[in-house]
Amino acid sequence: MDKEQENKIYNEAIEFFGDTSQKVMVIEEMSELTKELCKDLRDRGHVENIADELADVEITLAQLKIIYQIHDLVEEHKDFKLHRFAKNMAELKAQKNKG
Ligand SMILES: [Mg+2]
Repeated sequence: MDKEQENKIYNEAIEFFGDTSQKVMVIEEMSELTKELCKDLRDRGHVENIADELADVEITLAQLKIIYQIHDLVEEHKDFKLHRFAKNMAELKAQKNKG
């Protein structure tokens, strides 16, 4: 499905169910993913279930970005954090290679 179709569905969901309901859904879906990851850590997880819950989380997070109108702001934060993370990792690798 292309991004335009996805966004159409997200906007329809927000309009139909309302902001509050979709915010609750994000929390609910994140907890379902948490549960699947916990099961995996106890060797009772299934990749299919993790993928299913991860898809739910991505779908609800996309709606959250629309509700708050923060898509570009999230991308800016991601860009900053990924650059910082890469720099820190490079420093840690350099330190590890020295010692
Ligand atoms: Mg779910």
